Amino acid sequence: MLPPTVTTIAEVRRAGAAARALGKSVGLVPTMGALHEGHAALVRAARRRSGFVVVSIFVNPTQFGPKEDFAKYPRTLEADQKVCGDAGADLIFAPAVEAMYPENSFTFVDVSTLGDHLCGATRPGHFRGVCTVVLKLFNIVRPDAAHFGSKDYQQARIIVQMVRDLNVPVEVCVEPTVREPDGLALSSRNRYLSAEDRALAPRIQAALRTTRARAVAGEVDAARLESALHAELSAIPGARVDYARVVDAETLQPLTRLGRPAVAAVAVFLGTTRLIDNLPIAECGVRNAE
Ligand code: AMP
Repeated sequence: MLPPTVTTIAEVRRAGAAARALGKSVGLVPTMGALHEGHAALVRAARRRSGFVVVSIFVNPTQFGPKEDFAKYPRTLEADQKVCGDAGADLIFAPAVEAMYPENSFTFVDVSTLGDHLCGATRPGHFRGVCTVVLKLFNIVRPDAAHFGSKDYQQARIIVQMVRDLNVPVEVCVEPTVREPDGLALSSRNRYLSAEDRALAPRIQAALRTTRARAVAGEVDAARLESALHAELSAIPGARVDYARVVDAETLQPLTRLGRPAVAAVAVFLGTTRLIDNLPIAECGVRNAE
C-alpha cells in the first residue's frame, strides 16, 4: 500500500501528533528522493525502531553549490512512493522549496571544523545546508529517532555532532552502506554513469579495500596509505580524484599515523558524476561495522 504523501508542515505535524497520541514513537528518514535499496534499508531500520515512520523527500537547494546538479538532480516521486510503501513507511513528507525556505529565512546551522575537510573542502557551504535542513526537519517532524547512511560518513558524523552540541532530543542511528553485488555503493547519482563508467565504478570500493588490507598488514603511515589510495583511484581510466584521505574517524582531521579509529574516504569523478565512498580501516566507534 502506498503511504500518504503530505506537502505542508501543518499536515506532517498533525500526523506526528496523532501517532504520538496513540503512544507511538516517531522515526524519520531524511532523503532527497530518487530512492534505492540503500534508502529502503534506512526505512526498514526506522520501521524496526519506531511505531510511526516518516520519510522526507526534499531536494534541498541550500546544500548544492551554484555549479552543482540541483536542477538536474533526479526527481522520481511516484517510484519513491512505491519504495517507501514496500519498506513500511507510514507517511511521506515532500514539501516545496517555498515551504521549507520562505522568503526572509536568515538562520543557518554551521558545525565548524568537521565540515572543513573532505567534501567540505570542495563543496563549500554544503554541510551548512545539510545541517540547516536536517535541523528544520527535526523541528518539523519531531522524531524520536532519525536514520542516516554511513555511505555519507562525514554527513552522519556532522549530524551526530550537531545533535550533541545543540541538545537536540533525537537519537541519530547510522546504518551500514548498501552496495551492489560488485561493491559499488548505491547512490541516486549512479544512474548518470555511462555503461563504461558503471563498469569501472566498483574499482573505487576495491581501492578502499586495498587500503584497509595495507593497514591490516601493518602500514601505519597515513600519508603513504593516502598516496597509494590516490594512485590506485587515478589509475581508473577517465577518473578524476577529488580527494582520497585517511582521517580520524571521530574528528575527521588528517592523521599522521594510524593508532586511533580511522576511516578512508574518497570522492571521485567518473565523467561528470561525482561518487563518494568510505571504509573504516582501523577500529572505528561512530559507525556500524560493514
Ligand atoms: P540522499 O537522498 O542520497 O541524500 O540520502 C539520504 C540518506 O540515505 C542519507 O542518510 C544517506 O547516507 C543514505 N544513503 C544513501 N545511499 C546509501 C547507501 N548506499 N546505503 C545506505 N544509506 C544510503
